[in-house]
Amino acid sequence: MMTNRIGEYLDELFPNPKCELLYNNDYELLIAVVLSAQSTDKRVNSVTPIIFGKYNTLEKLKNASLSDLEAIIRPVGSFRRKAFYVKEIARILYSEYSGVVPRDREILSTFPGVGRKTINVFLSEFYKEPAIAVDTHVERISKRLGLAYRNDDVLKIEKKLMKKFPKGEWAKRHLQMVLFGRYHCKAIKPECSKCKLIDICKEKKKNL
Ligand code: SF4
Repeated sequence: MMTNRIGEYLDELFPNPKCELLYNNDYELLIAVVLSAQSTDKRVNSVTPIIFGKYNTLEKLKNASLSDLEAIIRPVGSFRRKAFYVKEIARILYSEYSGVVPRDREILSTFPGVGRKTINVFLSEFYKEPAIAVDTHVERISKRLGLAYRNDDVLKIEKKLMKKFPKGEWAKRHLQMVLFGRYHCKAIKPECSKCKLIDICKEKKKNL
């Protein structure tokens, strides 16, 4: 019942949710998602066209100078680690997978910088596989709206959301919750007075 109301409101706010990361192919998406950890899509979108414009094949990207990649990635944060991930992912894809990102959770989880959330985002966005990636927005909203407990970890939250929402809605709900968190139910100063879920929200009193 409560989940239905949340779903209906998310559909009302975001009838056609889209991933806001820019990409042209499978590996650009994977790398963009890796770069987006602890950063914002906006910052990632400001650097990926530079990376993929300058190094426009996996072969060029795997041979890129690490210091040049670091300089380009700097605005995203954690740039040394992320530059290494980008170069390494390009090398693995080029030399072991003929340049195609494998559609396989186990294989993807062996890639540097690629964790469960990244895999869920990649598979649901690129292959439209049912998955709910729990990022910081999804975690916060799930807790505020009582879809998860305050001390649940991301894996627990993911499992709870998968139980509460029908499988066919998982990918859409992830995108909608990200957008809801980004533009309405923000971490600081959420827009509670305009929110139609205020009566079921655990956070509202603090924010009004
Ligand atoms: Fe978020 Fe406020 Fe709505 Fe609660 S009432 S879901 S904190 S915007």
